[in-house]
Amino acid sequence: MSRGIILLSGGLDSLVSLGLAKEKYGICLALTFDYGQKSAQYEIQASKEICKFYNIEHKIIKLDWLKNITHTALVEDKELPFEIDENSAKNVWVPNRNGLFLNIAGAFADGENFDYIVIGANKEEGKTFPDNSEEFIMSVNSEFEFSTRKHPKVIAPLINYDKNDIVKSALDNDIPLQLVHSCYADGEKHCGKCESCQRLKNALIANNDTRYIRELF
Ligand SMILES: [Zn+2]
Repeated sequence: MSRGIILLSGGLDSLVSLGLAKEKYGICLALTFDYGQKSAQYEIQASKEICKFYNIEHKIIKLDWLKNITHTALVEDKELPFEIDENSAKNVWVPNRNGLFLNIAGAFADGENFDYIVIGANKEEGKTFPDNSEEFIMSVNSEFEFSTRKHPKVIAPLINYDKNDIVKSALDNDIPLQLVHSCYADGEKHCGKCESCQRLKNALIANNDTRYIRELF
């Protein structure tokens, strides 16, 4: 039987990726990264609940040094961008984040015998974040042919999905959206205003949802 790792932030994309891919890729371990982002404690809490729901092991990886070389609104005391555009993407960019996360997961896969690494990269964010693109996922798979003996395969189940598609498949597959924490801000509830909240809210509205909008915002 195959064994898979999910990169789990507790946000919409990683939760839905887990829900869609768990059985197919035998996901039994989630890695959550704490790099000093404002929302770290809430992401960790949400991830814990999600792992409990899906009955998988959860490991929190601390990357304290990453905060010191990052100057975005995700970690610094700057206002979070409220608009979705190229500039806002720049404001929430963390240096080599997905490259780093995937390579850490690659080390786990190589050392502890996992076949798959599942990541929530998707079409919508691939437009503004190059490390969410299909080309990037393919290049990491090529890299693992050299840098690991196990050659784990990176899977991005949402790579052709935008946020509306992601929310639709969550609703269609009874994925527990009430457990999600998709906000960049430092608060227990979703702020409803940051880029990430707006993307989620717009997608819920587009899918005629009323339940989760009420529960999350
Ligand atoms: Zn927010």
